[in-house]
Amino acid sequence: MDDVMEAVLSALQARHIRGFYAGDAGAACRRILELIPKGSTVGIGDSVSLKQLGALDALVARGVRVLDPFEPKPEGMDAEDYRKHRERLRKETITGEIFLTGTNALTRDGRLVNVDATGNRVAGMFWGHPLSIVVVGRNKIVRDLEEAFGRIRQVIAPTHFYVRSTELRGRIRKTPCAATGECQDCRSAERGCNIFSIIEGKPSQTELHVILVDLDLGLGWDPSWPAGRIAQIREAYKRYVSIQA
Ligand code: SF4
Repeated sequence: MDDVMEAVLSALQARHIRGFYAGDAGAACRRILELIPKGSTVGIGDSVSLKQLGALDALVARGVRVLDPFEPKPEGMDAEDYRKHRERLRKETITGEIFLTGTNALTRDGRLVNVDATGNRVAGMFWGHPLSIVVVGRNKIVRDLEEAFGRIRQVIAPTHFYVRSTELRGRIRKTPCAATGECQDCRSAERGCNIFSIIEGKPSQTELHVILVDLDLGLGWDPSWPAGRIAQIREAYKRYVSIQA
């Protein structure tokens, strides 16, 4: 573990958030399985990091009931029924036993920073159930809040909508970033950057565990990083991101 990850884990502990280090995908999945008892129900906040790790498959194989509002449309289900099905799942995930998701950024002093369109993912991180688990790749660590918000606004959000709408030809979101990959702080009715959250300490009624994984996971980079590393993060993201909603 490098000095930065060690410092982040200490910073989380000081905020009464339990932090764990995982050196690879196997260690991360083992830790998730240790924290989630067999037979329990887990709500998922959409997270490419979890899919990259194979965490959802591992949970299902173990007999955990996984509620994932971003699961693909079941064959034969019409669009309206799928929309209602996802809406039900979103509500169930918030008030279930355990919530499992990723984060957009984690500051070196232990603050979790996120953006959400609907709000269920960020709300699930801190309310509605006794335990939340957040999985974080090393690429999500940022210096401070300024870098966290800059990264979210300039890299994560616009790239997310551009990749889904234009590169992968999923649902076209009517926002400037979906066509250009650049944020214009839009006022579109389909704006995705509606709710920003900062978790500064353990939520009073929820245990919050963070698994810090020594891998690049999900979407997020500093533009000064080598082009090859950024391209790898981007390509991996494209393999796992949901494009239906
Ligand atoms: S504010 Fe609008 S343009 Fe900027 S990233 Fe969010 S949705 Fe895209």
